[in-house]
Amino acid sequence: MIRLAIQAKGRLNEESLDLLKESGLVVEPSKKKLLTKCGDFPLEILFLRDDDIPQAVSMGVADIGIVGLNEVEERSFIVDKVHNLAFGKCRLSLAIPKSEIYNGIGYFQGKRIATSYPVLLERYFKKEGITAEIHQIAGSVEIAPSVGLADAIFDIVSSGGTLITNGLKEVVSVMDSQAVLIATPNMESDKRDILKQLMMRFEAVERSKGMKYLLMNLPLDRLDDATEMLPGMRSPTILPLAQKGWCSVHVVVEEKQLWDRIEGLKSIGAEGILVLSLEKMMP
Ligand code: ATP
Ligand code: MG
Repeated sequence: MIRLAIQAKGRLNEESLDLLKESGLVVEPSKKKLLTKCGDFPLEILFLRDDDIPQAVSMGVADIGIVGLNEVEERSFIVDKVHNLAFGKCRLSLAIPKSEIYNGIGYFQGKRIATSYPVLLERYFKKEGITAEIHQIAGSVEIAPSVGLADAIFDIVSSGGTLITNGLKEVVSVMDSQAVLIATPNMESDKRDILKQLMMRFEAVERSKGMKYLLMNLPLDRLDDATEMLPGMRSPTILPLAQKGWCSVHVVVEEKQLWDRIEGLKSIGAEGILVLSLEKMMP
């Protein structure tokens, strides 16, 4: 049995549960329980506040955890960063009132900065040779300047909409973050084996993201053209068709190139093109 800590509620909760579901792991729905089992896999889910996940994993209360890299770096507990996950993307930035003129990092010298990430900010300012007053506040950091609590903020930004709403502008992006899978150091070997199986599932789901499975009928004499047109196609599956001179071609393509590919394939005589979604991809 391996125990995974995920955020109980908040921005990473839903996507963590989605990843488990897409990996074929059925989490028994027990919203009020702190700990729940997984249907047919030796996995327990521990629901925690994201702030507590790095420590829980570091101490071995949970063997593994899904949490923002920002929290991992801020808390400085010793954990293994096993894998970057494709969600929870954001950055930690310095922002100032939009009416202010920004003239470089020296702007922050002697200023009061509100943040929930004092360790990361301190580290950054030290590197830049800036001395500032760092005020740690737990939430609603973005309102600190307008109520006179601080001159600037250091906070999570994704679209920047919250900053604009609060009359702020982003001036320095200090660190990129995303959800990461972390593990307790020196995990026992039976747990390591379960983690390996889990990783295989996660990676299969990730690989299939943004990919489509394309099937079409193609005149046999245009096969070389098709291969040229689909550079990623190392070994397309080619099946004979009952009709002479034709074959069926199966290939995986990136969704963002899908329509270009279809146009091209049609122009060399592809017919009966089917686009299917992909669920999992093994290497
Ligand atoms: P908790 O109650 O668990 O302490 P929280 O309020 O501290 O939650 P959330 O706002 O739910 O935290 O954010 C959790 C994590 O999601 C952040 O630490 C960050 O890694 C990521 N995150 C935060 N804001 C965004 C955003 N706007 N876009 C993408 N990811 C984000
Ligand atoms: Mg938190």
